[in-house]
Amino acid sequence: MKLQIIHYPHPTLRHVSKPVKRVDAELHDMVAQMFELMYEHEGVGLAANQVDLPYRLFVANPSGDPKNKDTEHVFINPVLKGGKDQAEGEEGCLSIPGVLGQVVRKEKITIEAYNLQGEQFVGELDGLFARVVQHEVDHLDGKLFIDRLPAAQAAELREDLEEFEIDFNSKRDCGELPDDNTIAERLAELEKLRT
Ligand code: ZN
Repeated sequence: MKLQIIHYPHPTLRHVSKPVKRVDAELHDMVAQMFELMYEHEGVGLAANQVDLPYRLFVANPSGDPKNKDTEHVFINPVLKGGKDQAEGEEGCLSIPGVLGQVVRKEKITIEAYNLQGEQFVGELDGLFARVVQHEVDHLDGKLFIDRLPAAQAAELREDLEEFEIDFNSKRDCGELPDDNTIAERLAELEKLRT
């Protein structure tokens, strides 16, 4: 299965992902492709539903450097265990390229997840890594960073988002993108395999 990054307002970005029960060779391959796409587009995190998959997992490397394997992580079935302090910082998203906003997040978080070997780990994170993880967990819940912007900032981005909507609709009109039902049926089939 060849993966590619989908853009706002693709409905899979609003899909609430279910935990994965099975990690198989094909899922390993999907994760490898997700890292490739993330680096190719100079991102620091990428969630499964950004590549049109309904699985509760994301990849991240807050250094953004493909050679830096120490900071490269896969989070499978991640659960945020609270956090503390607030921090505001700039965010973008590979599914809304070129759009940036100032988002308030928790400064420090604890997260539990599984790696590709099926081992559970706990991360105590702060700064950029904590921000990336919160952004990606939001994706898995069908949320985008633009949902978290104050009204004035959201209004400023409205025109940019409309461009994405026009583009999406025109691609659909010429048959490059499937309709909502076809997308939902495909996600349901993929869920049956691993969730
Ligand atoms: Zn994103």
